[in-house]
Amino acid sequence: MPHRRIALITGANQGVGLQVAKELAANGVTVLVGSRNLARGDAAAQQIGPGATAIQLDVTDHASIAAAAERIGTEFGRLDLLVNNAGISNTGRSLSASIEDYAKTTRPSNVSFDEMRAVWETNVFGVLAVYQAMLPLLRLSSDARIVNVSSGVGSLTTNADPAFGYRRVFGPVYPASKAALNAISLAMMIELEGTGIKVNLVSPAFTATNLNNYAGTESVEDGSREVVRVALLGPEGPTGTFTRWENAPIPW
Ligand code: NAP
Repeated sequence: MPHRRIALITGANQGVGLQVAKELAANGVTVLVGSRNLARGDAAAQQIGPGATAIQLDVTDHASIAAAAERIGTEFGRLDLLVNNAGISNTGRSLSASIEDYAKTTRPSNVSFDEMRAVWETNVFGVLAVYQAMLPLLRLSSDARIVNVSSGVGSLTTNADPAFGYRRVFGPVYPASKAALNAISLAMMIELEGTGIKVNLVSPAFTATNLNNYAGTESVEDGSREVVRVALLGPEGPTGTFTRWENAPIPW
């Protein structure tokens, strides 16, 4: 019998992460449902059913990350798949404010450093901290993969094009945090070249989740499809990609 893959998904108690957890478990993967609130993680794991276990993991809390790595090492002895999914778009946008209105208050000229730091702490430094803690466990796998969940809004190439209609919302908080995530993902890809550990960067579609106050246009099932597809890639699957769908790369 082939061994079951062991996967850790950060921020898997709702939204895209929960959908990815459900589909991985349905495909025979043992899924560790990362959640900063353990009770919410337990509820999600119960909803998913066999193969899913909650694990307390706040990506901004180094003690929490270290405890999760310790537990995975003790219980499973390795990690095969890390999905860095946890993310936030803001800390204080009023629910009635549109993304365009929020963008006007977070331009380079007027952005709050506290707001920017909080979002980057989760979306950028959080991913790097989890990477550092989990890498020793990934090195013990014969088929390891890291999937970083970014966003097309972080594409510098797209936003540098004056013809791109949506570039007015490109700003230092969420969009630039995803551009920074893309940069550190490239550094991970370069660091791990030749090790057998694959690294992929993906963007969900514009999906109705808590992150955008459910303004996304795709269902969570459809919007998460690329994350699921890449997370399920086997040992022959590619590394170093940034995609929104198979054969649909996103310009860096
Ligand atoms: P979501 O429904 O708000 O889920 C985000 C998850 O991240 C939640 O489980 C949340 O936990 C968790 N999280 C936030 N801060 C955390 C922390 N410090 N430690 C651990 N977990 C934390 O949003 P989503 O849309 O599914 O977002 C998932 C990923 O997709 C994000 O990286 C996002 O940037 C990306 N993305 C989303 C879209 C979209 O249209 N939705 C598009 C492109 C990219 P709590 O439940 O405790 O808050």
